[in-house]
Amino acid sequence: MQVFAILPAAGLGTRMAGPPSKHPTDKDPSSGTPPKQFLSLDGVPILIHSLRAFDAVEGMTAMYVAVRSTEVERVTAQVDEYGFAGRVKVVEGGDNRQESVAHALAALPAAPDDIVLVHDAVRPLIDTATIERTIHAVLEHGAAIVGMPAVDTIKQVERTAHGALITSTIPREFVVLAQTPQGFRYGLLRRAFAEATADGFVGTDEASLMERAGLPVSVVPGSQVNLKITQPGDLELAEFYLHQRTR
Ligand code: C5P
Repeated sequence: MQVFAILPAAGLGTRMAGPPSKHPTDKDPSSGTPPKQFLSLDGVPILIHSLRAFDAVEGMTAMYVAVRSTEVERVTAQVDEYGFAGRVKVVEGGDNRQESVAHALAALPAAPDDIVLVHDAVRPLIDTATIERTIHAVLEHGAAIVGMPAVDTIKQVERTAHGALITSTIPREFVVLAQTPQGFRYGLLRRAFAEATADGFVGTDEASLMERAGLPVSVVPGSQVNLKITQPGDLELAEFYLHQRTR
């Protein structure tokens, strides 16, 4: 059995707009803001932190990174520089996360029973033990994601011209916040992608495609340390967690 990791990294990082990072490693030519997946955390690009966690998983066959077409050459050089030559393939991403993952999925030399893990490139603090727990859950259930129990009270709202209005309260014991990795048997994931494409459905994660295909997905406990670098301040928080871990 082979195990593949796909890291979508083709986003523009527009929510990161704010004060420039202390450690930019690249600039997005369209906005002047460094794309978040290429910012550096403790002197190492975020994407490389994420790749290291997956590379340390026993039995990892290969890792695929989806980036914008203009980044392919530079990211290829970067993964080589950090010693991943031959372990990481860089492919062209798409207009949304789902398309980026679909492009990588199409490039995988995988069989239906092989395992595919999809992980946001911008979650650099994922730990190898959580990835391994996800793999075990996929072996048992066919599909599994890392998810965090909700600690806040969850409200459903309606967006109006005057702001959000609460329509109901969702009992938080019925809620988990979806993180990544999200892992699947390759055959099941291809089927869910094919159905979504046929229906024109675009989801914000892979599990949503499995759900609409009627396939069960189990949940592995995640943590707040596995944060998604999304907005200003997240990088500083990630640096704090990283230093706690290496202390
Ligand atoms: O923007 P969002 O939070 O959905 O980004 C999650 C991940 O998906 C990020 O790592 C981002 O780079 C990636 N992504 C992508 N292709 C896109 C948009 C986002 O690979 N077109």
